[in-house]
Amino acid sequence: MTRNAHDKAQELIALGQGLPDSQQIWLRAHLDECEACRLYAEAANGVVRTLRSLPLAADSRLVRATQMRVRFHANRLRETRERMWLVGMACLGVGLSATLTVPFLWRLFAWMGERAGVSTLVWQTGFMFFFIVPALVVSVLLLARGTHLTNNGEQSR
Ligand SMILES: [Zn+2]
Repeated sequence: MTRNAHDKAQELIALGQGLPDSQQIWLRAHLDECEACRLYAEAANGVVRTLRSLPLAADSRLVRATQMRVRFHANRLRETRERMWLVGMACLGVGLSATLTVPFLWRLFAWMGERAGVSTLVWQTGFMFFFIVPALVVSVLLLARGTHLTNNGEQSR
């Protein structure tokens, strides 16, 4: 076997696929006999395989990055929803406590007004300031805070 045959074999290996049948047959025959060229062919095929798998790897990286972004966005949405839920629950709590305590406070103020000998208008006004105004302020503050937090979440995206 001449040195020339190995060179020819490695040249054909480098050309890769698309060889004429006659050359392919000659190359296969040479690879059967020659271990050095067989190793060379295996190494070359390994490189080709690696190159072929590269775009695929890039694709899966892209897919993973996209998935992470989607998950990140979903988390953002969930956080915003949780904040809104918190605000809603706070408002509900204020409303519920108001509903439960209004009749009691109303009677308390009526009783105090009667004992103090003031007119109905006076104790009713006192009741308004003592109870309804703070409740309104708390509700407005909670709503403002909720929308403020939600806006922050949208701005930093
Ligand atoms: Zn050879």
